[in-house]
Amino acid sequence: MMTSKSSESIKVVFRVRPLNEKEKQNSCKIATIAHEREGVIEIRNLLSDGDCESSKTFAFDAVFSEESSQRHIYDVCAAPVVQSVLEGYNGTIFAYGQTGAGKTHTMEGVNEPESLKGIIPNAFEHIFDHIALNGSKDKYLVRASYFEIYKEEIRDLLSQSPQRLELKETESGAVYVKDLTDFVVKSVSDIDHVLQQGKKYRSVGATLMNAGSSRSHAIFSIVIECCSTDGQDEHIRVGKLNLVDLAGSERQSKTGATGERLKEATKINLSLSALGNVISALVDGKSNHIPYRDSKLTRILQDSLGGNTKTVMCANAGPADYNYDESLSTLRYANRAKNI
Ligand code: ADP
Ligand code: MG
Repeated sequence: MMTSKSSESIKVVFRVRPLNEKEKQNSCKIATIAHEREGVIEIRNLLSDGDCESSKTFAFDAVFSEESSQRHIYDVCAAPVVQSVLEGYNGTIFAYGQTGAGKTHTMEGVNEPESLKGIIPNAFEHIFDHIALNGSKDKYLVRASYFEIYKEEIRDLLSQSPQRLELKETESGAVYVKDLTDFVVKSVSDIDHVLQQGKKYRSVGATLMNAGSSRSHAIFSIVIECCSTDGQDEHIRVGKLNLVDLAGSERQSKTGATGERLKEATKINLSLSALGNVISALVDGKSNHIPYRDSKLTRILQDSLGGNTKTVMCANAGPADYNYDESLSTLRYANRAKNI
């Protein structure tokens, strides 16, 4: 049955980062707490004296406090998705939340020390470890591409050409980005090089456009083809993994943004809500219309959301009371993505 299948294959998890040094120095109070064993996030509306006026709780498929290591988050959230991509299915992992909530830390982390590596570098190792184990009987081809969506325009992060890329549809209805660069990668260091190159172009582009990189969605895609032979027959399986660091979810329109900034904010809010609508329609399972067409992001990811794909939405929030409004809005977004 489609219904149970879709909801089983979409997981929504929530991570709360620790207070940073500045927040500690300012003696910020903690308002958002992850109760890992109970699988719930508690958010407290604190009075100025620090007393708790009221609190709400939200349940997720998994929640992570500052105690959770990067490796634990990979094992719980990402490893099952990567495993199924290696078996020929598509999968997508999103990091959602306001700027500063920990999206990039969750997706990329830092390479030194080893223990702080995020989902993307851990996925690289997972993929090439798997190939090293199975590569003598099966032949693998791995390709990587990296692009961003800024104000509903697609920019290749692996090409210096400033040209905007277009979305095209094949006769069978498959959506693809025309002229998008992809590189064949044969090792962890190859694919890491692709990531680093793209990150460089991303920050240069953001500066040229006078925008922070937190204003665009960055999508790192890995296509894995596996050709196996049993006796005479060849079997080809193709899986695609999308690793998405979403634009900051903060409500810029509330901060009094005008002109270009307001237009930018409107487009970000539109695409994030389009994504929320698609995910909740998939989880619901009863809608026969999934509104993929409402944004570039959901159109591009159409073949990797729903059906027999695996999706993980990792929502991130800061713990401090000054983040209350944004953290509550992130909780509501993630909660809506989870159930009807
Ligand atoms: P975002 O990408 O959502 O804007 P970042 O991932 O850049 O946020 O995180 C903001 C800051 O907080 C960074 O300095 C990052 O290293 C730190 N940080 C985020 N999450 C964690 C965490 N779980 N543990 C330790 N530091 C974190
Ligand atoms: Mg970031």
